Amino acid sequence: MEEIITTYCRMCLEECCINVHIKDGKIIDIKGNKNHPWNEGKVCVKGKAAMDWVYSENRIKKPLKKTEAGWKEVSLEKALDEIAEKMKGLKERYGAESVSFWKGEAIGFGQQEEYIRRFCHAFGTPNYFSCDSLCFASRYMGYSLVEGKMSTPDFQNSNYIVIWGNNPVITHINTAARIRKARKNGAKLVVIDPRETETASLADLHIQINPGTDGALALGIINLIVKNNWYDKEFVSEYTIGFEKLKNYAKKFSPDYVKEETGVSKDRLYSLARDFSKHAPKAINHSGNGLEHHENGVNNIRAIASIGALCGCIDKKGGELLLEGLETRSLTLYDELPLEDIQPIGAQKFPLLYQYRRECNTMLGMEAILNGDPYHIRGMIITAANPALTNPNSNKVKNSLKNLELLVVRDLFMTETAEFADYVLPAASFFERSELVLNSNIKRVGLRKEIFTYKDCQDEYEFLESIAKRVGIKEYFPWDNEDEVNKWLLEGTEVSYKDLKEAELGVKYGDIKYRKYKEQPFNTLSGKIEFAARHLKNMGFSALPKYKLPSYAGALKQEYPYVLITGARKMYHVHSRNGTMPDYLKDKVRPEVEIHPKDGKKLGVKDGDIVELSSKIGSIEISAKIVGEEDIMPKVLQITHGWRNFNVNEITDDFMNDPLSGFPAVRSLPVKVKKVKGN
Ligand code: SF4
Repeated sequence: MEEIITTYCRMCLEECCINVHIKDGKIIDIKGNKNHPWNEGKVCVKGKAAMDWVYSENRIKKPLKKTEAGWKEVSLEKALDEIAEKMKGLKERYGAESVSFWKGEAIGFGQQEEYIRRFCHAFGTPNYFSCDSLCFASRYMGYSLVEGKMSTPDFQNSNYIVIWGNNPVITHINTAARIRKARKNGAKLVVIDPRETETASLADLHIQINPGTDGALALGIINLIVKNNWYDKEFVSEYTIGFEKLKNYAKKFSPDYVKEETGVSKDRLYSLARDFSKHAPKAINHSGNGLEHHENGVNNIRAIASIGALCGCIDKKGGELLLEGLETRSLTLYDELPLEDIQPIGAQKFPLLYQYRRECNTMLGMEAILNGDPYHIRGMIITAANPALTNPNSNKVKNSLKNLELLVVRDLFMTETAEFADYVLPAASFFERSELVLNSNIKRVGLRKEIFTYKDCQDEYEFLESIAKRVGIKEYFPWDNEDEVNKWLLEGTEVSYKDLKEAELGVKYGDIKYRKYKEQPFNTLSGKIEFAARHLKNMGFSALPKYKLPSYAGALKQEYPYVLITGARKMYHVHSRNGTMPDYLKDKVRPEVEIHPKDGKKLGVKDGDIVELSSKIGSIEISAKIVGEEDIMPKVLQITHGWRNFNVNEITDDFMNDPLSGFPAVRSLPVKVKKVKGN
């Protein structure tokens, strides 16, 4: 007898609604749910492969303890008892702040993240690290500094879509579907990227740009829009501050100067500025992760966000929406237990990251472990993250992990990071836990359902509750299971948990409201759109989104004549998860460095040859892939990260970073290249 359960995929952050087909207690197929308004039946290969991933014979199903004789299976109770004792010991000897937590992308955000944040403050440590030190937070800060929050592009209703450093055809299938619909209705698509990505191939116009120089292009667009009076004067005068300052600063970005910095021609700059403003307010600038990993990432993003604001696209249909999410209760304890006397790691050096995201900086976390700066981190509990492979300067990461007195890794598989752990605990997959799935794009809340469980594979709530009980903070984890937490979270909202449990496709909450700024201020300090942020100046930063030439194009050019982008996404590969995917997907992609044919010729390198890439901090050898003339810009190289047998982060620099967010410049890394061996 076959049963079908509707739930949500969490192989990536798209969270598509899926129908899981079950026979004899086992998942036999996964299909996209055709009736759900988010993915309308779509499911990608990674989502399909989730059933093979979850039943993989390599999955860890018993707790492991490292002993002198190697890994030894121990009972869950024993492992939890020992871990809790060690945590208590560290707290007694060095203070609670010596214990830290690290959450990876693979487990998701929202509820899972809040469980950990809750535990941290209940235990007494502010040291919560996550993948947000490397992803999303920089964009969030860039947009929030201008608009008060991160806006969401209304792709489907837009007439002009500009995508900067993002490849939704591969990474956001539902965004890509909305872009396709908009194009069918006549919208124009422009992609700005040094590489011809799958999304760029679809575009009406692909503009190749020198990595990390997007801010100069954005300021050039602003200059032309202002000079030609193409901006929305009424919106600017009523709802913004700092216009005159931005206008004067942008004057420097003449078409000639922009061409010199970015490589973008004067004609393209002009048509971009003219066409964007012509289609406004139904025009969008969408910034992707590709913009974050540069020394000037936040300010580049602020400049891009300012274009939409200048043209009055904010919170209008077809423009950049300030969506309201469902106001669920919060699991965090920031008000109840603020821990004001303890400095979170990184909050001094990157205060904005902490202010905006309550995030400790993971790169500085490594310093804290190794050098005690500003104090020693001695214990770390990592869930669903693999920093030994995915954080920059991975040799330093590995050294740091080795120096911990207690390292616990919770994961489905043995990973490069888990190899350094004292305990590896088997974790639940997304089929084995229940949580709310909030989607503000379509104003809908869904329920991820627990479909099956393995005895010792705890979900995050179970694990933290088990430890809380043992370290004396059980009162902060009063719920018996996630079902009770889900119910508690929804109390006081317009959605009842009973309705949610009965609704196959989730529950819709309200409709999208436009132009909310007419009734309420923007969520910035001034209550207006901020082209110049005075509080940044008070913190020692520039109030304006100032542009800075990337290091690879300046002083380091002589010694390191190439620039390396790391982290471009591939269809069968999500961060380091490829290593744990079934072989039929794993084998479709492999690590290689993309090289422009002209550079290949100059270097005497052919397809498949082995080349050595060196940065200031190290060297790696990798197979060369000579791509097409248009696929990548000359002098620019690309390597995707996260491979089991190859680690590009051995040469990425953890402290060549953005002063506002602390994000490392892993997409504009100066390198040199030489051929090592022929194919
Ligand atoms: S895009 Fe693919 S992997 Fe991501 S949630 Fe949807 S089906 Fe799952």
